[in-house]
Amino acid sequence: TFLVMALSFVVSFLSLHGQLRPWPATLPQGLLSLGIADELHYGPNSTARFSVDYGRLTEAAPAAVLYPSSPDDIAALVRFSYASPRPFVIAARGHGHSTRGQAFAPGGVVVDMASLGRGRRTRRHDRINVQLDDVHRIRYVDVGGEQLWIDVLRETLEHGVAPCSWTDYLYLTVGGTLSNAGISGQAFRHGPQISNVHELDVVTGKGDMVTCSRDVNSDLFYGVLGGLGQLGIITRARIAVEPAPERVRWVRFIYTDFGSFINDQELLISISSEGFDYVEGQLLMENGAAKNSSFFSERDSEKIKALAAELGAIYFLEGAIYYELATASLVDQKLKLLLKKLSFVPGFAFTKDVSYLRFLDRVHQDEIKLRPMGLWDVPHPWLNLFVPKSRMRDFETGIFRGILIENDTPMATVLISPMNKSKWDEKMSATIPDEDIFYAIGILRSATKGDWKHLDDQNDEILGFCNHAGIEFKQYLPHYTTQADWKKHFGLKWDRFVQLKRRYDPKALLSPGQQIFTTSL
Ligand code: FAD
Repeated sequence: TFLVMALSFVVSFLSLHGQLRPWPATLPQGLLSLGIADELHYGPNSTARFSVDYGRLTEAAPAAVLYPSSPDDIAALVRFSYASPRPFVIAARGHGHSTRGQAFAPGGVVVDMASLGRGRRTRRHDRINVQLDDVHRIRYVDVGGEQLWIDVLRETLEHGVAPCSWTDYLYLTVGGTLSNAGISGQAFRHGPQISNVHELDVVTGKGDMVTCSRDVNSDLFYGVLGGLGQLGIITRARIAVEPAPERVRWVRFIYTDFGSFINDQELLISISSEGFDYVEGQLLMENGAAKNSSFFSERDSEKIKALAAELGAIYFLEGAIYYELATASLVDQKLKLLLKKLSFVPGFAFTKDVSYLRFLDRVHQDEIKLRPMGLWDVPHPWLNLFVPKSRMRDFETGIFRGILIENDTPMATVLISPMNKSKWDEKMSATIPDEDIFYAIGILRSATKGDWKHLDDQNDEILGFCNHAGIEFKQYLPHYTTQADWKKHFGLKWDRFVQLKRRYDPKALLSPGQQIFTTSL
């Protein structure tokens, strides 16, 4: 009886941890003797979720998943791999909202960052700490790299403050967006999210835990921001906050003329405090996403669609003015003055008045609408480009009125947002075009019928057009598969990036899904 009981205990213990399967051949057995062994799960049931991402374009299974309960657990894993004669790759996975497998670790270990915020030793609120001391002008929030921006927003709002720079969609992690840049309509004034960070805690590719800032270990600090997960895993970020506005006047103006549309965008990003607090824009095609947007009423949406049908493509400029309830009357005045300067189609100005939280969380409203229609969890062959201002007209002719209109696809959102280069820090790893103003263009298409290859072919056609026309674009959320292409992408920053990689992740263990470094340096 004792033997049967002992055996069944062992079986249930092992199956609880998914360990009844043979240990993965690509991982050293020695991992099982580490203190983190019970946080390592393997076998297809454990790894399936980590073998796909939001893009649904590609799949690759890790050998195991680590559910860390503290940053030390991540450091222990990386240190072990670094010291091992058989090192294995490791990828932090934030919310898995990459589209090309950037958070995959084929044959290695994926670190489920979310588990830091729900581990035995931590709760979410332990990992979002607001610090305010107006006497010493201290205003920041310390957040775990695994935290979703929506949670950062909710927590900071409780203290009457919030970060200034956002992404359009908030169900992304702090570590995931800081590894890219983090952009939305506030970036023209505050810079991307990476420009609003004071300090980071990072686990390097050697397993060292390093705190870095502009003054301390600054090479790592600048390298990690926009560094595509190549130099370290961000476990904490100190982010600047400002008093949060209560309300937002949210507006959209329709343009039929591309020149007027971008002139107005550029005018708006040149005005400081008297202008909009947020500026973006979109291309609207006849079958585009306006009909699924939660902004336009059914009636307005029909009116806009009719105009788009007549002209093939139209544009809307999107702006927002933040304000306090106590000064609400001034908003109308401010908006009236701004409207006088703009050249949108008369009768095609639409406004909404919402809370700050509702405004920032707007894309989630669309998600809630699209999910039950089966239009969210579909393949997403997205293409994001930074295009210099001087080439926007060529881009319009060749892409907006060319490739995209000719191949009109339903469920396309095409974002066109102006950025000021001066708000980006040249020392950081993120790469942008060399022009004072450039545009972030997101060609965000969903393959609703599962067939995405033809859309990806069009993406290649778009890149081909830009290359042929000599447009000095940069990919945002870049996807390349050869080192020659990565070298071209990083341009003048490449040699420095390689140097940093050699210093902080010489065995090329981290974020292999980016496909930048495939061998030790
Ligand atoms: P993941 O996909 O999990 O990881 C991305 C990369 O970062 C991987 O290489 C991973 O290994 C690495 N990584 C993850 N966590 C860490 C960490 N803690 N430390 C170091 N490396 C890490 N981007 C914008 O800038 N603006 C937008 O408005 C915007 N909107 C989006 C809307 C949607 C619906 C989607 C799907 C994406 C959007 N993105 C936007 C892109 C998004 O910022 C990136 O895809 C980002 O990487 C996703 O974050 P994640 O937490 O899901 O990262």
